[in-house]
Amino acid sequence: MTLQQIFSLVFLSLINFGNPHSSKPSTAVRKAPNVILLIGDGMGHSQLSSALYYGQEEPNYLRFPVVGLSRTSSSSHKITDSAAGATAFSCGVKTYNGAIGMGPDSTALPTILETLEDQSWQSGLIATSSITHATPASFYGHVKLRKQEFDLAEQLITSRVDFFAGGGKRFFFRRLDEKNLMPAIESNNLLLDTLKLSAKNWQEGKRYGYLLAEDGLPPVEEGRGDFLREATNLALDYFKSQGAPFFLVVEGSQIDWGGHANEGDYLVSEMLDFDRAIGAALDFAEKDGNTLVIVTADHECGGFALKASTKKVPFRGEVNDYDSLRYSFGTDGHTGAMVPVLAYGPQAEKFGGIYQNNTIYEKIISAIKGL
Ligand code: MG
Ligand code: ZN
Repeated sequence: MTLQQIFSLVFLSLINFGNPHSSKPSTAVRKAPNVILLIGDGMGHSQLSSALYYGQEEPNYLRFPVVGLSRTSSSSHKITDSAAGATAFSCGVKTYNGAIGMGPDSTALPTILETLEDQSWQSGLIATSSITHATPASFYGHVKLRKQEFDLAEQLITSRVDFFAGGGKRFFFRRLDEKNLMPAIESNNLLLDTLKLSAKNWQEGKRYGYLLAEDGLPPVEEGRGDFLREATNLALDYFKSQGAPFFLVVEGSQIDWGGHANEGDYLVSEMLDFDRAIGAALDFAEKDGNTLVIVTADHECGGFALKASTKKVPFRGEVNDYDSLRYSFGTDGHTGAMVPVLAYGPQAEKFGGIYQNNTIYEKIISAIKGL
């Protein structure tokens, strides 16, 4: 028996939620599934649909067998922001707009990553925004207001997140309080790379972080390259090397930014980029056989629509040309529309139906426990 096998056996007994003394005829021990949660920030149905018309190939998300709808309102507003939206997933409660990892009364709540880390899970976060931005931060941080990104940088260092990749160097190294975070980075076993995404000789007990821009990463239209898909594959490679089950969050952060800017090409290129990361997650899950993949959004942004172009017709003037699309926006902010949820893997069927965003947390937990 190799050392790796011994570790897996010890691990199985740690994560087996069933009663070890049960006298039931024993079937194979159920191994908790890995989870990959992909969040398209601002990705409503039209954003998702845009990949059908503007991509080179069929979108990867067409491979999902289960579809649901998520109701996105926060505890404070009909229209959520990304902080309350992500905290609903990470902590299982609806909270006020702006809250990171806190309930409506501003008390810190354990995040799903922290709960699983207590049970020796590995965890990872990838975003194309700063890694201290609302969506990723809601999985490790606890602050009253999302703009506390300097505090969130410190909280990420002392968290147990094993792997992260995104932007936000300035919150670590060009701080308003001029604090030097290097001693904390070293004492928390964190190996930081601020130059490029590259595979390491993964060491046991080390955490790996990639901070590749001062703030958000550049838009894919401005040369970000294949960062999101490559970072996803790199994280999966790291987790595989360590053996324990993992929870990975991957955010397509800038679908939302294209919506706020009312720039259709920006939005659609970010959507297509996000779909490539979805493809990487599904490829892994199909091969692995015990990985739950969920794709959803925190809210819609931009009131985005794929409307018809117009054409001039003799004697009728301008009419809709249903064979030609153009972008349309209804707002430069978020909207209250429901958003899609797509699921693949063990217990994916739990994600069918229409439900509140915070029940996604419960569904993930119960899928992990096999309930
Ligand atoms: Mg976000
Ligand atoms: Zn937004």
